[in-house]
Amino acid sequence: MELVDALLSGNNNWRETLSSMPVPLSVSSDPISMSCLESLIQDGRISREQGILLFENPSLSSVTALADMVKRSRYSNLVFFNENLHVNTTNICVLACRFCAFRKGPRHPEAYALGVDEYIDRIRPMSTSIDEVHTVGGLHPTWDVDDYCRLFTACKSEFPDIHIKALTAVEIKHLSQRSSISVEDTLSRLLDAGLDSLPGGGAEILVDNIRDRICMGKESSDEYLEIHSIAHNLGMPTNCTMLFGTIESIHDRVTHLLRIRNQQDITGGFQCFVPYPFLPDKTRLPEAQLATGSEVIRVISVSRLMLDNIPHIKAYRMNIGDKLASLALTCGADDIDGTVGHEEIMHVAGSSTRLDTSSDQLAMLVESTGSLPIKRDSKYSVFTPYETNSVSQSIPLPQIGAE
Ligand code: SF4
Repeated sequence: MELVDALLSGNNNWRETLSSMPVPLSVSSDPISMSCLESLIQDGRISREQGILLFENPSLSSVTALADMVKRSRYSNLVFFNENLHVNTTNICVLACRFCAFRKGPRHPEAYALGVDEYIDRIRPMSTSIDEVHTVGGLHPTWDVDDYCRLFTACKSEFPDIHIKALTAVEIKHLSQRSSISVEDTLSRLLDAGLDSLPGGGAEILVDNIRDRICMGKESSDEYLEIHSIAHNLGMPTNCTMLFGTIESIHDRVTHLLRIRNQQDITGGFQCFVPYPFLPDKTRLPEAQLATGSEVIRVISVSRLMLDNIPHIKAYRMNIGDKLASLALTCGADDIDGTVGHEEIMHVAGSSTRLDTSSDQLAMLVESTGSLPIKRDSKYSVFTPYETNSVSQSIPLPQIGAE
């Protein structure tokens, strides 16, 4: 049981475990991957130069195999998921990011803004089968912090056990400006009203000259990190993301990963990193490069290798689909997005991931990769091995260092 507990909390001795694991031929035959393995084992880190080489390495199989080794050194064959529901508050937004298919102007026939009762009504039918509501939306021109405090207070009063993960950094900035109070006061008031954690959305690429071209007017990369650091200092965990496949270079991706890693060294509150590619439907970014499936997998693998101080790397199946997400679980990801139930932002941009996946089906998807599904809470502090009626009986219990 001690072994399982260590794995559930991420095995603090993962570098030592890594050093004793058998090295697959694809890794041992690749000098770049071997040099990265040495760096990780020796308590070093993947440098900027190594990160670039990992992105450029023609041997994708060595990069994914190394990332899988690191994932297994921390969690063996465990894969985490939660039972959640996405509810978007409004698609009305004062900005017009070029990659965004979700936002609408206030007079658009499909524009909407949920009232408190409508928000609660969206959650109620799922309230006994979810642990978390995930809520993000556009930057509504008239809403301020009081509007969201009312929403979260009502939600906590109706569903006290549901974790509220809501509001991206740019929404926090917008509410702070609309309310003429500091970001810290904004977050403190939302925390008091029931907000439990922040999602990571809106990081895009943390390189300002790229942001200026794809999401002009959004928070700067410094502001994104500052807002998350304030949340961390208030004791509020957050996630972080990366949107790739727009116009960024490999160097920009590595800069993004390094900035996230540096911030985590200082404030330590990022729970999970969620990389996802740009989806182009109904957007205004014709010059986007778009990411291939193998690029998506490579980004997830490199993220696992470079972000040694962020515990969880998520396969965001709402964006990359269930097939690629299941592959990602063997290439460095240890977490897969939950039951979700309803999702607009990725689906309006072209995602066709099913929204009616049950916990059982999700667990079976995890099992299909040879992994053991573990249901988790939103703060990664309560874990429950999930039993399905499929192949779980034949999956061996976790063994540190097992291939
Ligand atoms: S990405 Fe967010 S901030 Fe940008 S236009 Fe869309 S809803 Fe608005």
